[in-house]
Amino acid sequence: MVYDIVIIGGGPAGLTAGIYARRAMLNTLLIEKVGVGGQIIITDLIENYPGFLEISGGELARKFEEHALKFGLETKGMIDVTCIEDRGKTKLVRTTEGDFETKAVIIATGTTPRKLGARGELNYIGRGVSYCATCDGFFFRDKVVAVVGGGDSAITEAIYLTKMAKKVYIIHRRDRLRAEKINQEHAIANPKISFIWDSVIEEIAGNKTVEKVIIRNVKTNELSEMKTDGVFIYVGLIPNTGFTDVEKDIGGFIIVNNKMETSIRGIFAAGDCRVTPLRQIATAVGDGAIASVSAERYIDGL
Ligand code: NAP
Repeated sequence: MVYDIVIIGGGPAGLTAGIYARRAMLNTLLIEKVGVGGQIIITDLIENYPGFLEISGGELARKFEEHALKFGLETKGMIDVTCIEDRGKTKLVRTTEGDFETKAVIIATGTTPRKLGARGELNYIGRGVSYCATCDGFFFRDKVVAVVGGGDSAITEAIYLTKMAKKVYIIHRRDRLRAEKINQEHAIANPKISFIWDSVIEEIAGNKTVEKVIIRNVKTNELSEMKTDGVFIYVGLIPNTGFTDVEKDIGGFIIVNNKMETSIRGIFAAGDCRVTPLRQIATAVGDGAIASVSAERYIDGL
């Protein structure tokens, strides 16, 4: 059997592409590495998706999925794509669970949190080092935690952690934040949050669990020790694009034109995994819609 479209990735971009493809009556399969929903599932609170003043990531993901299923989108979870073979008018999506032949592919695989690279980081994953406050914040009730990074992830997750932790230190390598102004204001106004500027973590240390971090001031090179029970790391994103040969930038993000077409005809990309000036749910949704309509037109022309 040959699908019209195989969508790889079940976050906001992939699910939106699925909704549009099914409304165009295309025979569409969405495959996902874990479960449908994407990164937003681990987001506590979303305040910038129009139509929802406040909604949890899990709830919004469920609404997206419900919407896609209502239009008959076929989904398969726990499938890891290994490569996409370009056979001209069809593509073969090779996966750990077998191969899927399709006329068009939409890659919407999102990103994975980047590791910090500090000494001790890997030894303490799950024992004080975390990349997900929504998943692990609960374990830090009334404890002291450090958050690394100055982007929206670091700032919003630090604010979330103040609900549990008694103190949250944001350690940032510069003296200015990259996060949206409104997020910055909320963090600065939060009495539980303090900033440690111009600083990087050299080492994460402890015993069975994290007990302290060694911090270096990048301006003075001075080293200091800070006691902390946990370290939450938000230092950027790595695109999940290793399985595809389409053209990418130096960071591995997929290069597309304004129709979401990649360098290989019939393969489209949408959402956080592509080169884009903004990675938000709203932009991912827009990308998914464009990619789907472009794929439909491509299939019509085959
Ligand atoms: P990001 O915007 O790339 O920020 C990464 C942060 O980590 C930067 O502040 C960067 O410092 C710092 N950093 C990078 N490498 C580092 C290292 N080796 N050591 C110490 N610090 C390091 O990543 P993000 O915060 O995950 O956000 C990703 C995208 O998702 C963004 O487009 C963001 O707007 C979006 N997002 C939005 C929201 C929202 O509520 N609107 C929430 C989450 C994410 P520099 O600033 O010095 O480069």
